[in-house]
Amino acid sequence: MSENNSRVVVVTGGSKGIGRSVCLKFAEEKARIVIVHYDTDDIAANETLNALAERGVEAESHKLDVSSFEAVDVLFNDIFSRFEKIDVLVNNAGITRDTLLMRMNEEDWDAVISVNLKSVFNCTRAVIRSMIKQRSGSICNISSVVGQIGNAGQANYSASKAGIMGFTKTVAREVAARGITVNGVAPGFIDTEMTAVLSEKAKEFFIRQIPSGNIGRPEDVAEAVYWLCSDAANYITGQILHVNGGLYM
Ligand code: NAP
Repeated sequence: MSENNSRVVVVTGGSKGIGRSVCLKFAEEKARIVIVHYDTDDIAANETLNALAERGVEAESHKLDVSSFEAVDVLFNDIFSRFEKIDVLVNNAGITRDTLLMRMNEEDWDAVISVNLKSVFNCTRAVIRSMIKQRSGSICNISSVVGQIGNAGQANYSASKAGIMGFTKTVAREVAARGITVNGVAPGFIDTEMTAVLSEKAKEFFIRQIPSGNIGRPEDVAEAVYWLCSDAANYITGQILHVNGGLYM
C-alpha cells in the first residue's frame, strides 16, 4: 500500500480556466492531482503543471477525449494501478458550439452532448465502483446557469448542462449510503477562454443582468467546488450550487 495519504483528485478540463483554478485550490491541501485535457496543445496544461509544481504538488496531465468511454476507462485503470484510489472527481471539461436551433446541425448537437454530458457518465462510471468499495469519495459536476434558465443559441449546451443536473441527483441517491457525495456547481458568467470569444456588446448585455454587476472569476467557482468536496460538506449531496452573482436565484 502507498504511504501517501493525500487525496487523489482528477479534474477533467484542468488545463485552464475554471479547471485550472480548481487544481490550484486542491493544491492548497497538497492533493495529488491528475489533469485531463484534449483539444489544444500542451501549453496550457504545462502552465498548470508548473504552477502546481511550484506549490510542491505531485501532478500529471493526460491528453484524451473524455467523451470516449474506452479512453476514459484506460486512463482511470492506469490511475488506479498507480495511485490505488481516487478520492475526488471533478467533471469540468466542456465545450460550446453556439447557434440558433434552426441553424444547429447534428454535429454541433452530438459534439456538445458527448463532451459535456456523456463524459460525466464515462468518468463517474469509471470511479464509482472504487469509491463504493472505499466507502468514501466526492464527485462534483460542473453544470451551468443556462442548464436551469436556458439561453437562446445554446440548445445543445443548455440541454447538456440540464442533463448534468439530473444525472447528479440520480447518482447522489444511488451512492449516498456508501459515504459518497455527488453535487454540482452551476457557474454563471465566468471570465475564461470560453467566454472571451463573446463580443464586448454581448458581455455588456450579460453583465447588465447580473445583480452583483460583475463577471465571476474562475476562483469563485473553484471555492464552491472545493468546499462541496470537503469534509465540511459531507452531509450535502445531490445539490446544485449556483455561483453567479445573483443571475439566477
Ligand atoms: P475553458 O477555459 O474553455 O476550458 C475547458 C477545458 O475543458 C479545457 O481544459 C479543455 O482542454 C477541456 N476539454 C474540452 N474538451 C475536452 C475533451 N473532449 N476531453 C477532455 N478535455 C476537454 O472553459 P471554462 O470556462 O473553464 O469551463 C469549464 C467548465 O465550466 C465547462 O464545463 C463549462 O461548460 C462550465 N461553465 C463555464 C462558464 C463560463 O462562463 N466560463 C459558465 C458556466 C459553466 P483542451 O483545451 O486541451 O481541450
